[in-house]
Amino acid sequence: MTDPDPTLRPDPLPEDTDRALRPQMLDDFIGQADARANLRIFIQSARQRGEAMDHTLFHGPPGLGKTTLAQIMARELGVGFRMTSGPVLAKAGDLAAILTNLERNDVLFIDEIHRLNPAVEEVLYPALEDFELDLVIGEGPAARTVRIELQPFTLVGATTRLGLLTTPLRDRFGIPTRLQFYTEDELHQIVSKNAIKLGVPADTEGAREIARRARGTPRIAGRLLRRVVDFAVVEGDGRITRALADGALTRLGVDALGLDGADRRYLTLIAEAYQGGPVGIETLSAALSESRDALEEVIEPYLLQQGLIQRTPRGRMLAQRGWAHLGIAVPERPGARDLFGQG
Ligand code: ADP
Repeated sequence: MTDPDPTLRPDPLPEDTDRALRPQMLDDFIGQADARANLRIFIQSARQRGEAMDHTLFHGPPGLGKTTLAQIMARELGVGFRMTSGPVLAKAGDLAAILTNLERNDVLFIDEIHRLNPAVEEVLYPALEDFELDLVIGEGPAARTVRIELQPFTLVGATTRLGLLTTPLRDRFGIPTRLQFYTEDELHQIVSKNAIKLGVPADTEGAREIARRARGTPRIAGRLLRRVVDFAVVEGDGRITRALADGALTRLGVDALGLDGADRRYLTLIAEAYQGGPVGIETLSAALSESRDALEEVIEPYLLQQGLIQRTPRGRMLAQRGWAHLGIAVPERPGARDLFGQG
């Protein structure tokens, strides 16, 4: 990707391993009220029955708390947590090694589960359904299959692209859960809590300024907060006020809606080169030198949610609000005049 400032992208960066800011239990987790209420019931039921919880799928844009919720589930269930990801499991044997090492009722988290190799996915099906593994031992005529019994476990899958999951895999999750973008109030609470944890308190308006510009995403809120803390320590008096947050975020290239340079390039391209569209995703991808996946998974979800763009069968279009945000007048379209019989 060509984005100059990875701070503003919701993909994980090493600093996110900073555990201090991760909520540890369901009660510390702010937002996603519906998902949380349901999970609380399923967790309690599994605990009371002494069984593994049903397999759970979290889907939604990056940075909304899928990994965090999976870890919380294991902690609340009082079981072990193992973590891996779709692209890492190259061979069936890689998955078999993990599955055979799970203890009773453990949580196995597979991130980016839409990128599982089909051969690995095959092995997963009987494991999910019957807690059994069919392994092929040896090669050629001497090859034989052995069946291995597994401990019951809970698979928690996470994906940013529900549409890329195969139907048989999707059907094996008893609890599919969509995570939503966070409201400004929820992010405000998260920022205030985290500012205290980082030892640099934010006043109400300071925290709100960061929340408003965090694109509905706790991971981005955490990153912006860290950068604002740097400014507060070096240039302020160690407190986060609205003026300080506004100045810092503006210098980082984050605008009033939380859009960064890459988002604005995307919008400006559609406005200026394609008169507002429609324009196909492949064309945008080539013109911006961003992968199609990055556009679809990272940039577009928030622009769509904010009503800045629209997806149509013929491509992406700038919405009224997108023109307004760029401060460009909507061009007059000959086609639109045709509609009224004046063209
Ligand atoms: P995902 O797996 O969806 O990409 P993560 O679970 O890794 O997202 O969360 C990204 C970051 O945001 C983590 O640092 C986590 O601490 C923080 N975070 C996510 N959800 C919340 C929340 N509800 N409250 C506070 N922090 C959160």
